Amino acid sequence: LPAQIFPGRANSAGVDLADPLVREPLMTKLAELESRQWEAAPTVRGQAAGEIAPITSPHDTTRKVGTRRDATASEVAEAITRAEAIQPGWNALGGERRALLLEAAADAFEAHTAEFISLCQREAGKTLVDSVLELREAVDFLRFYAGEARRLFSRPIPLPGPTGEENRLTLAGRGVFATISPWNFPLAIFIGPAAAALAAGNAVVAKPAEQTPLIAALAIRLCHEAGIPPEALQLLTGAGEVGQLITSDPRIAGVAFTGSTQTAQAINRSLAAREGPIATLVAETGGQNAMIVDSSALPEQVTRDVVNSAFQSAGQRCSALRVLYLQDEVADEMLRMIKGGFEALEIGDPAKLSTDVGPVIDEDAKAALERHIARRKTEGLPVWRRDLPDVTANGCFVAPTIIEISSIKDLRRENFGPVLHVARFRGQDLERVIEDINSVGYGLTLGLHSRIAETRRTVERLARVGNLYVNRNQIGAVVESQPFGGEGLSGTGPKAGGPHYVLRFATERVVCIDT
Ligand code: GLU
Repeated sequence: LPAQIFPGRANSAGVDLADPLVREPLMTKLAELESRQWEAAPTVRGQAAGEIAPITSPHDTTRKVGTRRDATASEVAEAITRAEAIQPGWNALGGERRALLLEAAADAFEAHTAEFISLCQREAGKTLVDSVLELREAVDFLRFYAGEARRLFSRPIPLPGPTGEENRLTLAGRGVFATISPWNFPLAIFIGPAAAALAAGNAVVAKPAEQTPLIAALAIRLCHEAGIPPEALQLLTGAGEVGQLITSDPRIAGVAFTGSTQTAQAINRSLAAREGPIATLVAETGGQNAMIVDSSALPEQVTRDVVNSAFQSAGQRCSALRVLYLQDEVADEMLRMIKGGFEALEIGDPAKLSTDVGPVIDEDAKAALERHIARRKTEGLPVWRRDLPDVTANGCFVAPTIIEISSIKDLRRENFGPVLHVARFRGQDLERVIEDINSVGYGLTLGLHSRIAETRRTVERLARVGNLYVNRNQIGAVVESQPFGGEGLSGTGPKAGGPHYVLRFATERVVCIDT
């Protein structure tokens, strides 16, 4: 087996939903939590209060989950002042003590499994399976970055001293890091970048997506209860304006952002336009992810992996499959089987154990997807859609859709939802297909189903993507085993859950002592 970075460290076991002794008490607890109301507010409290917005469930917008109070400009400024004041002390704690605090937070998260699963479902519309995976990944990030705090920040690295001098290199936090996170992983990608920044000795101001502040507020409360000082990890709730206030503050040393490519570019411009130090940007953005299936692939395996990659999480993963390339000879048969799997998807209430596809996040997301599908229909392209069941009437549901197109180049932007595009290719055109995929500029995930070693080598050599998955689905990267992140329009790297990520949050210092 290849060496692990931390021998003996294991990822979270999660929740075994197949075991009735685990599942039944969890379902009872979730039913009890169904009507609980939650609140999210900035962890600093200014004189004047910001706007209050209701948070409702994407699968039934008549159901309220709680309220979000937005941070005001003076609360943003005050949070950064407090973060700046505590950061040297947090950095001086050293890697081992920061690791212990992050691990205590991971334990606290696991002790609140039902609350987190309930919020994933009610606030973000996630299915039960996705909610369990979300919590697991959050816990894995906390423990993995705790290990990185120990590995990288416990002792200086001695360097050669050719003339008898002593040289050593140490790593330190850069200062105050801002994290701006998405609604599609409201817990894992909220806490992951924050944990990495904390591991490296930064203080953090964390802004969750405007749609999912409640789960973030619970995460922050548990981190504080686990012993992470409140000033070192602060919550700033609100919409894009709050993000802009944060990124235009010259005291911010770096930003870790996950979301759209356009917003990452706007943050980059905002950071460049400020006075003060040159800020670090870690951005993980979108993708126009393809999968190539040739005539040597196993049809049952392809069907399972295509349906899963395109429709799990209602297609709301930046890793999700958007454009499936089927080799001509097998295209009709494969498409027939894929449609069979697609027809079997259960669409509906995420609280129900058997639901495969839940809602999209909000009305805006739904409207954008429906516009895209309507336009393709007007162009006369073949479109297949599922019917939506009655239970979806009050929610933001988009019927899973398959559209035939001729090339990835026909698509202008990422369509973040349960929409799969299918194109055909001739075997001798493999290299051109990869060129087309590269030409759109994104570089996040690519799937390949082929039993031909030469084809795999060609794809590996030519594809400009962060994560290539062969003969499997292309979602669900596992912390440490498949570090995740793309290139080009898909992000800056380094990869989340990988051995170089935390380093990006640190600055290097060298001390040279002559004798
Ligand atoms: N890491 C996730 C996966 O592999 C995707 C993350 C995202 O959607 O931002 O599916």
